[in-house]
Amino acid sequence: MESNSDIKPTPKGFHCALCNVNLPNMPSLDQHVKGRKHQTLSTVRSTRKTQEEHSVFVSGIKPHISQADIAEHFQQFGPVTDVIVDKDKGVFAIVQFSEPEGLQAALSLVEHQVKGLKVRVKPREKKEFKLIPKKRNDYQNLQRLLDRLKPELCQLVSVDAQMQCVVERSQLGENEKKARGLLVQLLQEVFVEFFPDSQILPFGSSVNTFGIHSCDLDLFLDLENTKVFQAHAKCTAEQAVEGTSEDGRSEDSILSDIDLSTASPAEVLDLVAAILKRCVPSVHKVHVVGSARLPVVKFHHRELNLQGDITINNRLALRNTRFLQLCSGTEDRLRPLVYTIRYWAKQKQLAGNPSGAGPLLNNYALTLLIIFYLQNCEPPVLPTVDQLKHMACEEEECVIEGWNCTFPSQPIAVPRSKNTQDLCSLLSGFFSFYAKFDFASSVISVREGRALPITAFLSRNKEEEAMQEEPSTKTPHHGPKLAPLNLLDPFELSHNVAGNLNERSQRCFQRECQEAEKYCRSLQYQRKSTKGKSWGLVRLFTPQGQVAHAKSEAPTISIPFKSASLPEVLRNQLHMAGEGFRLLWFQKVCAAVEEVLKSVLRCHLAHSDADAVFGEDSAVHAVEEMETTPTSLNTSLNDSWDSVEPKNEGSSKVGGKRQLSSSSDASVSPQGKKPRLAIKTRRDFPHWICVQKHMVWAGRRKVRRELIKDTDSRPEGSCVEMESQVTARIIDKEPKLKEPLEFTVQPQMVGGTEITRAVLILEPTSDRAAVFSDFFHFLEAFLPKMVETLIEKETGNV
Ligand code: ATP
Ligand code: MG
Repeated sequence: MESNSDIKPTPKGFHCALCNVNLPNMPSLDQHVKGRKHQTLSTVRSTRKTQEEHSVFVSGIKPHISQADIAEHFQQFGPVTDVIVDKDKGVFAIVQFSEPEGLQAALSLVEHQVKGLKVRVKPREKKEFKLIPKKRNDYQNLQRLLDRLKPELCQLVSVDAQMQCVVERSQLGENEKKARGLLVQLLQEVFVEFFPDSQILPFGSSVNTFGIHSCDLDLFLDLENTKVFQAHAKCTAEQAVEGTSEDGRSEDSILSDIDLSTASPAEVLDLVAAILKRCVPSVHKVHVVGSARLPVVKFHHRELNLQGDITINNRLALRNTRFLQLCSGTEDRLRPLVYTIRYWAKQKQLAGNPSGAGPLLNNYALTLLIIFYLQNCEPPVLPTVDQLKHMACEEEECVIEGWNCTFPSQPIAVPRSKNTQDLCSLLSGFFSFYAKFDFASSVISVREGRALPITAFLSRNKEEEAMQEEPSTKTPHHGPKLAPLNLLDPFELSHNVAGNLNERSQRCFQRECQEAEKYCRSLQYQRKSTKGKSWGLVRLFTPQGQVAHAKSEAPTISIPFKSASLPEVLRNQLHMAGEGFRLLWFQKVCAAVEEVLKSVLRCHLAHSDADAVFGEDSAVHAVEEMETTPTSLNTSLNDSWDSVEPKNEGSSKVGGKRQLSSSSDASVSPQGKKPRLAIKTRRDFPHWICVQKHMVWAGRRKVRRELIKDTDSRPEGSCVEMESQVTARIIDKEPKLKEPLEFTVQPQMVGGTEITRAVLILEPTSDRAAVFSDFFHFLEAFLPKMVETLIEKETGNV
């Protein structure tokens, strides 16, 4: 490690003072030190140090002295690389030399005069390098708004009233809407000059009824009619009519430079950007973002302090905006829920990507999650998109880019919901719903109002068939990008609107839902404090990091089911397994865990059922007896779990206090806090008894480096072989542990009413050398990665 002074051991692991982060164990410390953040900060710090050691501080400067004057004066002592004058008053400067000799020479002169003015020169102060955390402006704004809102919220009588208050205080005011409308009108007038018959149409939060004061202005520039106009003009020109088109409009415009029927979106957007820059007053910071899923021109309007986005191929967004409008027109409880949950998500840093990109939920995706929950309440608060389609009349039929986007244009066409829950209970229901939701094995469909099994999306062919439910109206589309959270767009069914989320953000979302669910069960949520303390929403909005998260007590390692990263062959196998996919995947995981423990880490291993081995004085005996003939875990799993019934994922409904899981759910045990796959009896449950005689976790990185350097012994093939050799070398070189570490590993399958994953419960049975804790921390990082690699290898992809 190149700068050990930054790392200090703590009772809970390590602390990196440079980056101000805590690391629980050696592997994560290693990873952190190699990571981008630590490396960048180290480089910045050493550059700063060099700068400090090469610069002098000059004070007593007057405004008539320029930067060039200062540079000229100091050049006599040695080459000057930089002169920085303080921006505000210009009374001091920092002069940086390329060589330390220049600095010494400048300091040795007693009196300095620049243009006849006496200035003072001294060594530059050496400041300790400190990381200044980045500030998020929108986050701070929200914080300020909430700080102002808190006393008012605490005074109100119910959570329902608090939620209504959040809407009133944050929604776009009439004047704001008017100002946005005027800007749209101005843009329309400008664009029509350049793109005849074009239309500029707002969508997104400015018009979807969920806008807040600072929300951006999303605009769609519709050039369809311009294309028609251009084609027509071209035709007319070919008939030798020059200069003026038939309807009298001048063709001698910017349009004559570009053929819209063949131009790429990037070319059109460049043109849009040029028009914005040159022709729209108060617009600045115009730039094209071509890398986005939908390329966009971004701009800022100075007077309105408004961020604007213009897209050109985004007709579906206009339609989904209409859909959100319809939902809030149909159901009054939707807006308070959306505003409240958006605030909560922002406070917990779960939503709102600062620059439009990143691994957090965006507001559109979050709103769809709320709608999906409301579709699943008992009785439903909102209809499914498929139901809405049937409520529409013939004139309302709408197909965009092959996707059926039909729904009624007026809320009156949608029958009122029979659900009478108040806002307070709907809000807590939202958290309960997603606290237990099995994201790993589901694809959320707002269209059908149910969670579709992930297996339907694991095989490409089947997935496409699934998309083709109405072949007459749809063109073939590829399947959605699978991610830790799969949320299908209601119309563009091949698009996962949460495809940008990573595992961490998905986990955080679920964990915060679990915390919120717990809080919502307390009296502090439901009842106004008589002592004037924070209650209801105020406590719910506590920023992230201020609530301690309960740590799980037993040492467990989770191996998540990651549909997106499974090898193709396994995806197909799981697809074929249908609802029994969990068991099949679990078998693969168990086989891989066994392989890692036995072959990669050289644990002496046996597996057994609970009665056979639990209770032995020393596990070593059992291991030694069984070591030579370990039964195949696959076989024992199959034998033990023949009776496991598949579960029906799609049919779960929630409502009031009812839970997500239904009683018909055969494979998932509904009782207890942590439902597990229903296994016949605990006796049948296999687990491993392990003995580790060497500290194979210590110094692996160093050995790995040596192996890589030493080309002769560099192992060929995957990292599995490499890691096996690392272990072998440690065992060869390092002495045995005085007392072997004995522990058990008990695998469990979780899923259905919580996220699908394999959980390994580790328990030390003999740890006289007190090494279990170190070993466990190592395994926590090492095992899931190795299991993933082995599963890939087994299915022929590595
Ligand atoms: P806000 O601007 O307050 O964050 P918003 O609803 O306007 O909320 P944006 O991210 O600005 O959200 O997106 C604007 C619109 O673009 C959305 O209302 C939706 O119509 C469309 N949209 C945004 N994200 C997606 C997505 N991931 N998939 C499909 N459409 C999207
Ligand atoms: Mg927006």
